[in-house]
Order: sequence, then structure tokens, then C-alpha cells
Amino acid sequence: MIQIKNSVQIAAMREAGRITGEALLVARDHIREGISTKELDTVIRHHIEKRGAKPSFLGLYGFPGSACISINDEVIHGIPSEKRILREGDIVKIDVGAFYKGYHGDSARTFPVGRVSDEAAALIAATKQSFYEGVEAVKVGNRIGDIGAAVDSYIRSKGFSVVRRYVGHGIGRDVHEQPDVPNFGTPGRGPRLCEGLVIAIEPMVNCGTYEVRELSDGWTVKTADGRLSAHYENTVALTADGVINLTEVEVGE
Ligand code: MG
Ligand code: MG
Repeated sequence: MIQIKNSVQIAAMREAGRITGEALLVARDHIREGISTKELDTVIRHHIEKRGAKPSFLGLYGFPGSACISINDEVIHGIPSEKRILREGDIVKIDVGAFYKGYHGDSARTFPVGRVSDEAAALIAATKQSFYEGVEAVKVGNRIGDIGAAVDSYIRSKGFSVVRRYVGHGIGRDVHEQPDVPNFGTPGRGPRLCEGLVIAIEPMVNCGTYEVRELSDGWTVKTADGRLSAHYENTVALTADGVINLTEVEVGE
């Protein structure tokens, strides 16, 4: 069942979203060659806790980190580790959530480590833009399939592919609520969008095949062909005033 939020609840979610967005900015400012993904995870957790919130992902389904940190061909759900060290030319995906006053925020970014390849830069830019293409379809009366269709058609036009096995989602008192929000779809199909809908739109985009595989650690998801993947996510609310991006705290990345 889709949990529709009223304006008071959306205002509370804006606070959770702000802390989530801040945590990503703090992480971005620490990204450099030589830092481990565990160190980034610690920086994120400290920021969230300093703001009086809790990391949404810590312990969620048993996940051991505060953020999912995934490098290069890792798509999502990378486990922070002292052994995973960022190198010049890597792209690193950080996916984080904050739980505050009963509500969650959820947001992800893909950051370059120093200079990256033209292909990596193009992938990061297209993934970000595909999120905004999806947001354009978030209108009262549209349907969930309109969002995914917009994301997918943009990504195809850039020669990349969207991951199909993992999807965006409703969000509120739980990180993962109904409805599913796939990054592909058929226009005019799926649940109808209405005021009070709060969803995480999160394109996961691969340079090569959309096929992915899960590693034996039970968490990390990689591209099946070993090529790069990027991720971009925000929590957005559909209101009488249009779409509010709850996790965007600064124009940029
Ligand atoms: Mg996320
Ligand atoms: Mg999400």
C-alpha cells in the first residue's frame, strides 16, 4: 500500500532529507586518492549522528555500514572496508540515508576521484541528467511507468543502459515503501501519481550491459561485464506546489 504523506509529514521528511544531503557533501569533501571506504563511512556516520539522526542503512537487513560505497564496476551495496582504497581515476558511488524524527531520507551520488576517463565523466553526467528527466514526469495524474520510461529513453539516447534488477521506491517511516519506482517502464502504466507521494528516484546506469551479479559477500552488486556503473538518487515529494527535492542541499554534483 502506498503511504501518502501530508504537509506536516513532508516537512519532517525535509529535515531527514537535509541531513542526508549534508552527509553526501561531507563525504564528497573527503574524497581523495588513498582514503579507504571505511574512513568515508565513518565521516558520514559522524555527521549524521552529530545532527541527532541515525544512519538509515546501518543494520538495515543486516547491512554492516552507515553508507553503501561502491567503486567503478560495483553498482550498489558496496560494504565500507579499510581494504578498499580510492585511486586516481576511480568513480565512487555513495548511497546514504538518515533517519530523523521518524522519517528517512535516501540519496546517492557518483563522485570522480581526481581525473577520470571521458567515458566515466559522460556516464556520471548522463546518470545525473536521467534523474532530472525522471523528475519531469512526476506530475499529478501521471503514472510510475512515465518516470521509468523518461529515465530509460534518455539513457538509451546516450548509449548506456539502466539496471533493471534494482529499482527506486516509496520512502517515509520505512526506507523502502511502496511503490517500486523502476528506471524503465511503459508510459501510462503503473500506480497513478498523486499529491503526497514521496519516492526515491535512483537511476543506476551501466556503460555496457544492464545485467548485474551479486558477489559472494551477499551484498556487493557488480556489472556482469565489468564495465563502469553510476548511481544518482534523491528523495522527492509531489505536492500541490510541484516536486520538492528533499535531499538536495546544494546545486552541484
Ligand atoms: Mg539510496
Ligand atoms: Mg533508495
